[in-house]
Order: sequence, then C-alpha cells, then structure tokens
Amino acid sequence: MNSIAIAQLAELLAGPKKVFIVTHKNPDGDAIGSAVGWGRFLTKMGHAVTIAVPNEFPDFLNWIEGSAEVLLWTQHSNQIKVALEQADVICCLDFNSLQRIDEIGELIALASGVKVLIDHHQQPDSFPDVVFSDVTACSTSQMVFEIIEALGRKDLIDSGGAGAMYCGIMTDTGSFKFPSTTATTHRVVGELIQAGAKNAEIHQSVYDTQSMDRLYLIGHCLNNMEVLPKFKTAIIKVSKKDHHTFNIQRGDSEGIVNYPLAVKDIHMSVFMREDKDLVKISFRSKGALDVNVIARKYFGGGGHINAAGGVYAEGLDKAIQKLKEVLPEYEQELNK
Ligand code: 5GP
Ligand code: MN
Repeated sequence: MNSIAIAQLAELLAGPKKVFIVTHKNPDGDAIGSAVGWGRFLTKMGHAVTIAVPNEFPDFLNWIEGSAEVLLWTQHSNQIKVALEQADVICCLDFNSLQRIDEIGELIALASGVKVLIDHHQQPDSFPDVVFSDVTACSTSQMVFEIIEALGRKDLIDSGGAGAMYCGIMTDTGSFKFPSTTATTHRVVGELIQAGAKNAEIHQSVYDTQSMDRLYLIGHCLNNMEVLPKFKTAIIKVSKKDHHTFNIQRGDSEGIVNYPLAVKDIHMSVFMREDKDLVKISFRSKGALDVNVIARKYFGGGGHINAAGGVYAEGLDKAIQKLKEVLPEYEQELNK
C-alpha cells in the first residue's frame, strides 16, 4: 500500500469530514461493493458520507446493506450537486477518468473538495490529489480493505461493509478464478467472512437469482455467436430487437461475454449490445492479449488487460466490421 497516500489520507480523515463517494456509470459489483464498503467504514469513523453513481445498478446488487441509500444522478441530481458542493473530501472509486461518470465528473472537475482516487484500472488520469492506483489489484474492494487495514481500523468493518467488499472481490475475480486472484485476495476474503460477510448467501444472491428471460437470452447469444478461428475470437451481439424479445432488464447481459472463453481455442470474447444510441462493447481475453489497448485505441474505452469495455456510435454492424478490421493487428497475440 502506498504509504505516502496513506499518510495523506490519515491526515485528511483526522477530524469529522463531509465525504462524497462516487463510482462509475453502469455500476457493477465492485463499484457498489467498494463504494458501500468504504462509505460504511467512513460513517463508523464519524464522517458524514454521501454515495452517488451516474445511473441505476442491477437488481442482483440490491441486497447490499446500504445500497438503497446510494444516490443516482438520473433521479437525485439536485441532492448530488449540493453534497458535492459541500464535500471536504471526494472519493472516486473503481474508475480512472472523470469521463466515466458523465455529468458528476464535470462537477467534480470544478469542485473544491480534496480528490482521492482508489482504483485498479490501467492508466489513471491526473485529476486526483491523493492517489491509490494499483493495476495489479484484483478489485477496488480489495484495495479498500487494504487501505482500512493500513489505517489500522479494521475494527470498524461491520458485517454489511464486509459483505459489500466480499461481493466486489467475488465479482471482479470471476469468483476467485482470474489471474488477478492472489494469496492476499484469499486472506482478505477470509477476514471479510470473519467480519460477517455471508459468503454462500452472497454467491446465491448475485448468481442464482436470474430470470428465465436471461437464461433464454444466454441461449440465444451462444447459438448465434460468431467464431473467427484465425483470430481465436468469438463475437456475441445483442440487437435492439433482442431487448424486446428477451425482455432485457438492467444487468441481464452481465457476464455473457465470459461464456466463449470456456472454449479451449477461444482467446478473446467480444460482446456487443445495441442500446438506444450507442453500442456498448465488452472485451474479455485469456492469455497474452491486452484488451484494454483495443478498447482504448478503437472503441473510446479502457479497463484492464483481460477485461475492458468501450462504445461505438455507428450501430451494431459497423461496430462488428470495425472489430474485424482491427483484428489482424492483434493476430500474433491472439494466437499465443
Ligand atoms: P464491462 O465489460 O464489464 O462493462 O467492463 C469491463 C471493464 O472495463 C471494467 O473494469 C470497466 O470499468 C471497464 N470499462 C467498461 N466500459 C468502459 C468504458 O466505456 N470506458 C472505460 N475507460 N472503461 C470501461
Ligand atoms: Mn473493479
């Protein structure tokens, strides 16, 4: 853990402060898990905490204690503006660029509070004053635990916060299987279970509460996926029409991108979902190919070496065409 940043943070949090916590658009388990885990800890420390996100998060995260108090820009923009104006400290969790939080990011750029970044994405921007950036960390939730530990206040982790952080680590490591999972990860989740995280219940709440519609959607995606053997790549697409056919709800397409990687000779999986005005793209790889590079260079996005995301403005077919155009550049890495 970065000892200079820890000292800065300890000084910042020495007296009661108004703290604003924000995490990325389309929040996932690690976004909500780390924000709520950090927020509950700061509240116990005696700070006044507001947590905000740009838009709604999936229902399978609703069980997280305290998630109901998270403010959504889409519903509570005035409250968020006021909290941000008053904040002494602004904590940015699980994202690396203010563009990832839309309008809230524009306000943060102008806000006077001290900006703290806690994040594990590649190439963070330079906006924060206090930086915890660890691209080797499996999740922001693990970083939050380690920061609390470095502050010497693990005693303030309650069962709700422990469950939230457990959820973040579990979801960002693909249930402890991605290469980012380390001995530290297992030690940390062990401590979180000791602190009250109900591990088996959390797995069930996140993974075993799906609708039949989602299962049919997965079937449809796998039946229609395109495989490009030369590039060891699979492409899955979900059209606007599919949204209607499969009654797609927020979170229903989460994780579908991972399925093709179960095949021995698939090294990259790309999932493209046609939303209202943009195509949302998810990239996953196993092995040598750095998908963060492709997402950043061609699809206005970014992320991690083996998991990244981006967008495309010209529709589904053109997005697929673009991907096929750039694949030859990565043929060698894809075939390693
Ligand atoms: P997902 O495919 O699950 O949406 O995202 C995978 C990873 O890439 C996550 O760590 C996420 O934060 C990051 N990511 C997803 N979409 C974007 C994007 O549009 N821009 C950037 N910079 N990162 C993204
Ligand atoms: Mn994360």
